Amino acid sequence: MKETTHWINGQFSNQRASRHGDIYNPATGQVTATVAFADSTLVDEAVTVATKAFQEWRHSSLTKRTQVLFAFRELVHANKKNIAALITAEHGKVLSDAEGEVTRGLEVVEFACGIPHLLKGGFSEEVSTGVDVYSIRQGVGPVAIISPFNFPAMVPMWFFPVAIACGNTVIVKPSEKDPSASMFLAQLWKEAGLPDGVFNVVHGDKEAVDALLTHPGIKAISFVGSTPIARYVYETGTKSGKRVQALGGAKNHMVVLPDADLDLAADAAINAGFGSAGERCMAISALVIVEPVADALIAKITERMAKIKTGDGTQGADMGPLVTRVHRDKVASYVDAGVEQGATLVVDGRLVNVAGDGFWLGPTLFDHVKPEMSIYTDEIFGPVLSVIRVNSYDEALALVNNHQYGNGTAIFTHDGGAARRFQNEVEVGMIGINVPIPVPMAYFSFGGWKNSLFGDSHAHGTEGVHFFTRGKVVTSRWLDPSHGGINLGFPQNS
Ligand code: NAD
Repeated sequence: MKETTHWINGQFSNQRASRHGDIYNPATGQVTATVAFADSTLVDEAVTVATKAFQEWRHSSLTKRTQVLFAFRELVHANKKNIAALITAEHGKVLSDAEGEVTRGLEVVEFACGIPHLLKGGFSEEVSTGVDVYSIRQGVGPVAIISPFNFPAMVPMWFFPVAIACGNTVIVKPSEKDPSASMFLAQLWKEAGLPDGVFNVVHGDKEAVDALLTHPGIKAISFVGSTPIARYVYETGTKSGKRVQALGGAKNHMVVLPDADLDLAADAAINAGFGSAGERCMAISALVIVEPVADALIAKITERMAKIKTGDGTQGADMGPLVTRVHRDKVASYVDAGVEQGATLVVDGRLVNVAGDGFWLGPTLFDHVKPEMSIYTDEIFGPVLSVIRVNSYDEALALVNNHQYGNGTAIFTHDGGAARRFQNEVEVGMIGINVPIPVPMAYFSFGGWKNSLFGDSHAHGTEGVHFFTRGKVVTSRWLDPSHGGINLGFPQNS
């Protein structure tokens, strides 16, 4: 059986691993490959390589870095379908969605191509006689990027193009469930002319992550995953003296006001609720409908749900399987709990009928969900949409603001004033107005509030550049050739 191994110093590692994980094709339920798990010795080897490479890469000219980034951009663009096929084979999402995530990742590469402009400092001439002050930003050193299963290409690409453009070296630790996209991207970096050792991939589980979090050679950690692990990564990494940005889980609310275009809202709820089988950190899972339009909107949603084809993502389905059997069963157990706790099950995805042993669960809709039910309090991360009926904007806003997560949210309305008030009052990092999945463009920054983010910096955009660099301010005096004499006085502005 094929074994996916690490990528260190521009080549596949030939070290024999003592532990492995299984990689599944979620549409067939079959194990298709294994992945080597790194121990602390292997992580140390990768950090040593990245530390050595940093000494050269940090001195590479901005022109050289930009040329490599442009070449990488062209290669990823040309290989979009190949990368998408790798993603679908291990994650299960449909091919068009997999291609979409590569496109969103490419936007960050394109943003990073502007690094000469992004790294420009400030300059103040003559702050005192003959004295100038200027600021510069420099890379921090080897950085680790630890990513979740749900976007095996896009999430690492939120970080590594910016990190590399800023002069850092990188170790990616992809999800052990779908590690192949990172390996493919590693080979494209090499083809693009990136020096060996600047981009490395180590695979594994907690053991590899812990080794990265505590290794003194790693200077910064970008993590994306579930909230308990994000909190752990933030606490452990910062305790080891590193800067950490740890993006966590989500429970995204879509608020529909009574004046909204209900067809637009129904389409949005379907796309954002069931796209990628709900395994998106920006998926909508709580639909907050302000009465009296709930019945009408639910009718439009159920009509659309009946047309969603669940099946193999390579065979023209609209929605693929869930990532693993364990995850599928966990999501199904939330459906069981919703019924037990008294919510009205309008569409039951447990009844979906797809041939084969894939990890199937169809689109599911609950009505009359109450805030104390576990289908509302918890992140489910599956194709389960919960409707909460409320009677006013204020009630809807209170629900969103009282939730532990604050990643994304959306409001649907024709009232510009209401939308403006919502964007001002809501305690969430990314907001859509008549837009269901408001993932910011790469030149803005991505990140949530509350339990959706631990740390101060969001991903990419200027916050990404700041995260991957440290500032310096230089005060310099070059004496005018006409200068003469000694002055032992305390420096003062004149
Ligand atoms: P996860 O937390 O299980 O795993 C994320 C990473 O952490 C993986 O690389 C995994 O190997 C590692 N890991 C797992 N357990 C660990 C442990 N005990 N100690 C150290 N490392 C550990 O997350 P997942 O299931 O792969 O991804 C889904 C989660 O990611 C969801 O909660 C989703 O909301 C979240 N997510 C958030 C964002 C965001 O932008 N906020 C984006 C994508 C996904």
